[in-house]
Amino acid sequence: MPTFDYRCGSCGAEFEEWVKVADTSVPCPECGAAEAERQLSIPIVHSSTTRAKSMRAAKRRDDRKQYENMKVRMEYEADHDD
Ligand SMILES: [Zn+2]
Repeated sequence: MPTFDYRCGSCGAEFEEWVKVADTSVPCPECGAAEAERQLSIPIVHSSTTRAKSMRAAKRRDDRKQYENMKVRMEYEADHDD
Protein backbone atom coordinates (compact mmCIF):
# COMPACT_ATOMS: atom_id res chain seq x y z
CA MET A 1 0.00 0.00 0.00
CA PRO A 2 1.49 3.34 -0.98
CA THR A 3 2.08 6.15 1.43
CA PHE A 4 1.54 9.78 0.58
CA ASP A 5 2.88 12.91 2.14
CA TYR A 6 0.30 15.43 3.25
CA ARG A 7 0.50 18.99 4.45
CA CYS A 8 -2.29 20.59 6.42
CA GLY A 9 -3.42 23.86 4.91
CA SER A 10 -4.74 24.99 8.28
CA CYS A 11 -1.86 24.43 10.73
CA GLY A 12 0.96 23.43 8.39
CA ALA A 13 1.50 20.01 9.94
CA GLU A 14 3.17 17.50 7.66
CA PHE A 15 2.42 13.81 7.93
CA GLU A 16 2.15 10.61 5.97
CA GLU A 17 -0.89 8.46 5.43
CA TRP A 18 -1.39 5.07 3.92
CA VAL A 19 -4.27 5.37 1.54
CA LYS A 20 -5.81 2.95 -0.90
CA VAL A 21 -6.68 5.60 -3.45
CA ALA A 22 -4.30 8.37 -4.40
CA ASP A 23 -6.86 11.14 -4.27
CA THR A 24 -8.27 10.20 -0.90
CA SER A 25 -8.37 13.21 1.39
CA VAL A 26 -7.47 12.73 5.01
CA PRO A 27 -8.06 14.78 8.17
CA CYS A 28 -5.15 16.51 9.85
CA PRO A 29 -3.97 14.57 12.93
CA GLU A 30 -2.76 17.78 14.56
CA CYS A 31 -5.65 20.19 14.34
CA GLY A 32 -8.43 18.05 12.88
CA ALA A 33 -8.88 20.14 9.75
CA ALA A 34 -11.15 18.28 7.39
CA GLU A 35 -8.75 18.02 4.51
CA ALA A 36 -5.00 18.09 4.11
CA GLU A 37 -3.24 18.70 0.85
CA ARG A 38 -1.38 15.81 -0.68
CA GLN A 39 2.14 16.66 -1.67
CA LEU A 40 2.66 15.81 -5.33
CA SER A 41 6.41 16.16 -5.29
CA ILE A 42 9.23 16.25 -2.83
CA PRO A 43 9.47 19.79 -1.50
CA ILE A 44 12.71 21.71 -1.70
CA VAL A 45 14.41 21.16 1.62
CA HIS A 46 17.27 23.00 3.23
CA SER A 47 18.05 21.33 6.52
CA SER A 48 19.86 18.03 6.79
CA THR A 49 17.04 16.68 8.93
CA THR A 50 14.25 17.30 6.47
CA ARG A 51 16.54 16.25 3.63
CA ALA A 52 17.15 12.87 5.26
CA LYS A 53 13.44 12.54 5.95
CA SER A 54 12.64 13.20 2.32
CA MET A 55 15.27 10.71 1.24
CA ARG A 56 13.71 8.03 3.41
CA ALA A 57 10.28 8.90 2.09
CA ALA A 58 11.52 8.66 -1.48
CA LYS A 59 13.06 5.27 -0.83
CA ARG A 60 9.95 4.04 0.95
CA ARG A 61 7.81 5.01 -2.01
CA ASP A 62 10.25 3.11 -4.17
CA ASP A 63 9.95 5.81 -6.76
CA ARG A 64 13.27 5.49 -8.49
CA LYS A 65 12.86 8.60 -10.60
CA GLN A 66 12.03 10.78 -7.63
CA TYR A 67 14.87 9.22 -5.70
CA GLU A 68 17.32 9.99 -8.47
CA ASN A 69 16.02 13.55 -8.67
CA MET A 70 16.57 13.94 -4.95
CA LYS A 71 20.11 12.65 -5.25
CA VAL A 72 20.83 15.19 -7.98
CA ARG A 73 19.29 17.95 -5.87
CA MET A 74 21.34 16.96 -2.84
CA GLU A 75 24.53 16.96 -4.88
CA TYR A 76 23.64 20.38 -6.26
CA GLU A 77 22.95 21.76 -2.80
CA ALA A 78 26.20 20.27 -1.52
CA ASP A 79 28.05 22.21 -4.21
CA HIS A 80 26.07 25.40 -3.64
CA ASP A 81 25.82 25.49 0.10
CA ASP A 82 25.52 29.11 1.01
ZN1 LIG B 1 -3.75 20.82 10.80
